[in-house]
Amino acid sequence: MTGFDSFIVVDWSARSAPSPVRESPDSIWIGMARRGEEEVDCSYLRTRAAAMAFLTERLDAELAANRRTLVGFDFPFGYPKGFAEVVTGTKDPLALWADLAERIEDAPDNSNNRFAVATALNQLFPGVGPFWGCPLAAANADLPEKGTARKDHGLPERRQTEQALPRAQPCWKLYTTGSVGSQALLGLPRLHALRERYGAQLAVAPFQAPDRPIVLAEVFPSLIADVIDQLQSDDEIKDRAQVRVLARALSRLDPGHLNRLLREGDAEEGWILGLGHEDQLRAAALPALRPPPLRNDCFALPAGVDWTPVDDALAMLRERLRPVVGVESVPLMQAAGRILAADVVARRSNPPLPNTAVDGYGFAAATLGPGDQVLPLVDGRAAAGVPFAGEVPAAHAIRVLTGAALPAGVDTVVLDEDCTVAHGQVAFRAGFKSGANTRRAGEDVATGDIALRKGRVLTPADLALAAAVGVSELPVQEPLRVAVLSTGDELRAPGSDARAGQIFDANRPMLLSLLARMGHVPCDMGIVSDDRATLRQVLADAAAQADVIITSGGASAGDEDHVSALLREAGAMQEWRIALKPGRPLALGLWDGVPVFGLPGNPVAALVCTLIFAAPAMSVLAGAGWRDPQGFTVPAAFEKRKKPGRREYLRARVREGRAEVFKSEGSGRISGLSWAEGLVELPDGAATIQPGDPVRYIPFGSFGL
Ligand code: AMP
Ligand code: MG
Repeated sequence: MTGFDSFIVVDWSARSAPSPVRESPDSIWIGMARRGEEEVDCSYLRTRAAAMAFLTERLDAELAANRRTLVGFDFPFGYPKGFAEVVTGTKDPLALWADLAERIEDAPDNSNNRFAVATALNQLFPGVGPFWGCPLAAANADLPEKGTARKDHGLPERRQTEQALPRAQPCWKLYTTGSVGSQALLGLPRLHALRERYGAQLAVAPFQAPDRPIVLAEVFPSLIADVIDQLQSDDEIKDRAQVRVLARALSRLDPGHLNRLLREGDAEEGWILGLGHEDQLRAAALPALRPPPLRNDCFALPAGVDWTPVDDALAMLRERLRPVVGVESVPLMQAAGRILAADVVARRSNPPLPNTAVDGYGFAAATLGPGDQVLPLVDGRAAAGVPFAGEVPAAHAIRVLTGAALPAGVDTVVLDEDCTVAHGQVAFRAGFKSGANTRRAGEDVATGDIALRKGRVLTPADLALAAAVGVSELPVQEPLRVAVLSTGDELRAPGSDARAGQIFDANRPMLLSLLARMGHVPCDMGIVSDDRATLRQVLADAAAQADVIITSGGASAGDEDHVSALLREAGAMQEWRIALKPGRPLALGLWDGVPVFGLPGNPVAALVCTLIFAAPAMSVLAGAGWRDPQGFTVPAAFEKRKKPGRREYLRARVREGRAEVFKSEGSGRISGLSWAEGLVELPDGAATIQPGDPVRYIPFGSFGL
């Protein structure tokens, strides 16, 4: 079953007369959002009957169009444990809905009998209560005006889902500020009517699997009250802002995640959708914030510079670039390789409780006398996930298994191998250390610690850590989309016919796969001939769909070097003449605000320039910060003399601990790229290298390949 297409949030009302003609608070508001659309349709309804007519009309239309709809109502779908059974004879909350539907009368003008129904329900219970609160005139011996007058009715005051929400009012309170009791009494019969109307097309979460075309769920906009405050516009009525913001948040949650949320909760009492996942709801409620574009002069070079040394060029990129992508939230299982967009704070300690690191016998060290020990064993044991409920008395021991929480009265464990056990006793030698073989709660990570720092490229081990500290959703950067195009009249797509003078486009498959390996999203813009009008069009297309553009070929200052010419014409290009071999001219610029890396056409130069310049620059743009590739000093297996003036990168690999370089330095030799497993970096100045001399080797893996 796919996700939902439409998301309706209803702010219900228990008014006894129609709401004012003029839009006002404390009335029924209905917000409707569609997946992928920003606008939320908000409606004001004056009576419950009008709201139901409106809703069924919408739901009929969605069903007819084959769209799935999630409908949230802001009142409890169930009552505290024990209520349904006394009223209906079963624990089934849906049977209670049917029962309430029999009892409640709710006229088209909102007049209703809810206080009489509450009185009758109270009479089913001993003592006074549980319902309370009504206008003085409606008060009677069975329905007190004050909550304190209730006694001995035997029911819990709150549902489980409300335990952690002091702001949520118990459903027994029927009258005055913030009460939801009357809303539920007048709402559940209406939900029952929806069930009757839509039959097997409708499911109620969490009582039924949320896999039908219409799913009803209980919502509580105050879960994200802070965000609603923030997004409420100046003259907007609060209730409207609530349904608007929550409907949009639901529409933007990951469908799989939403599906899991709908299954959480209690089958008798019901559950507030998203409780405990407020961070995800908040993130989904906030409009996708994208950072402002880069400044037009971000690639400007200081005047009068002829050849820019590699380190200067890198320092300039590092200083001037910043992230250009927004933030989204993904389930833990899908987060590997993504860039963490905010620090992750531990919600739970690891380990959560003090526990034993070995299988053995536990006791309290301070309660033992000196010398060798013989201790009586307590009945029972503590195992991982199955704690021992009692307390271990002084100078007693208990069987414990690895990972078990230490029982009360235990702070030290001796290993199985060091013990003799017989006749309900355990014996071991003197000399154990207090606290031995145990792990302290939070010794790895404590609740509230920063477990993972913003900017990390998430590894499998990071996911283990996030899971251990109770985090199941991670804020990550949206992926960086990188458009790749090759320029040159001589280029043909691999697999097509090539006439004399034509060559196959080797750069595009290389660059596209390279970007994917680096964790970016490559967009293939194909081959562009050496024609300025076409190139202009393709650059515009690329800028519309990507965050970065990488071109190869045409980057120098020659007649056919249209990339550099066009960028110069747009006033946003700099030809970076970098003192680098292979490579040299690198055209850097902005096209419609999108950074363009104009690489040389030679595949060897294109790869080297991508790894040395574009890779760290894209890392910043993607939100992972600047990354210098990790190199290693190894003895050379080659001989080489180089002149001063340019840094050089040689195609290389390590065999038997020594760096070998490719037999030819020709920059068109693609076979050498394929042979290589990394680069040897030779310094800017002159160098004479003999076999055995130390050289810097950077494996391709250090560039994220
Ligand atoms: P350019 O930078 O356009 O002057 O090209 C430099 C050299 O690289 C020329 O020999 C081009 O034919 C070659 N070249 C340019 N683009 C590619 C490509 N995509 N695949 C293979 N070779 C290319
Ligand atoms: Mg060319």
